[in-house]
Amino acid sequence: MRDFFARGASNLYLASLYLFLPAMPLLAGLIFWRRKYVAQYVQTLRKCVIHIRALSNGPAFHYFSEVAGRVKQVPTYMNGSCVQCGNCCMEHQCVFLEQLGDTTFGCGIYGSYWRRFSNCGSFPLSQHDIDRYACPSYYVGTEMPIRFHKTPSVCPVPSTCS
Ligand code: SF4
Repeated sequence: MRDFFARGASNLYLASLYLFLPAMPLLAGLIFWRRKYVAQYVQTLRKCVIHIRALSNGPAFHYFSEVAGRVKQVPTYMNGSCVQCGNCCMEHQCVFLEQLGDTTFGCGIYGSYWRRFSNCGSFPLSQHDIDRYACPSYYVGTEMPIRFHKTPSVCPVPSTCS
């Protein structure tokens, strides 16, 4: 049932993005307070089309089915750290992605409050997430089960028991 609603919400979201496509560079400039999205209107518009197409290939559905209202950050059992390859930025198709070096990329809206309403802050959520973007650095660690130990009836080291 959740998938049904997630599919509906995702389709609605994508349709609204196409509907407001001509206004997207202006909205992005205003929301993220960056002049370049407006100053480079045509370039931003082209990137928006690529971005929306990439969103429709899974990320929009992933957001409504697994992220929205459920997780806000990378799970604690996920190990590793980002090496800025840009794979998880929808395979370099995100409109906000910026090239930093020959093989490194950064997020142009990283510090924005609004970025939290995306898949980005909680990537990777699972092994599936790691695999689908071939993330080279994160890996799933071992979840340590909580173990309860019986308290000894006699204190073995008196100075530590009070
Ligand atoms: S795929 Fe992994 S290493 Fe590459 S940018 Fe994303 S989190 Fe960082």
